[in-house]
Amino acid sequence: MSADFARLAEQVGQLEAGGAEVLHLDVMDGHFVPNISFGVPVIEKLRLASKLFFDTHLMISDPMKYARPFAEAGSDLLTVHIEVAPEPMAVIEHLRSLGVNVGITLNPGTPASAIAAVIEAVDLVLVMSVWPGFGGQTFIESSLDKLRELRPRLRPDQRLEIDGGIGPATVAAAAAAGADMLVAGSAVFEKADPVAAMDGLRKLAESALGPRS
Ligand code: ZN
Repeated sequence: MSADFARLAEQVGQLEAGGAEVLHLDVMDGHFVPNISFGVPVIEKLRLASKLFFDTHLMISDPMKYARPFAEAGSDLLTVHIEVAPEPMAVIEHLRSLGVNVGITLNPGTPASAIAAVIEAVDLVLVMSVWPGFGGQTFIESSLDKLRELRPRLRPDQRLEIDGGIGPATVAAAAAAGADMLVAGSAVFEKADPVAAMDGLRKLAESALGPRS
């Protein structure tokens, strides 16, 4: 969402060449969140231009109805909000049937216990560290407690992602608290040199984990 949409493929290509591993795509429906971002055609076009892992974050009210076109557009992983999934296992099974990896996410006001029944069934848990809907917001510090609470409940093959307000001031703390996927928007895309900004964040995150054994 933080990218320059007039230069989207070019910016994504720069970051891919510069060592990015994942492209996090924030889809907003103007209903679950008070904003509209982009939809299926943008992802289809990007898919033709990029080999990155597409991590599509569906901030939408009805994932059962709309997940399929986002999978068919080339998403590698679809993440849905627990707040809109009264029967989350049914949503997860639907996403699996589409052939994508599955993530579950929770808003800042939703406790970690809300995903207890499905945590073993997902590939990724996404902790929202801002209220979803807008870029460039301030990191909510209590998100670190949620990461620390969730990390021990995940298997080594499951990822713990954090999204919102990640930048030089927050990335190390998020990594130390257990996040192993760190979504940066404005802290990368709004910099004069996005690749250098991404490298700087990666180094800060790695430094928080200490020397590798
Ligand atoms: Zn997101």
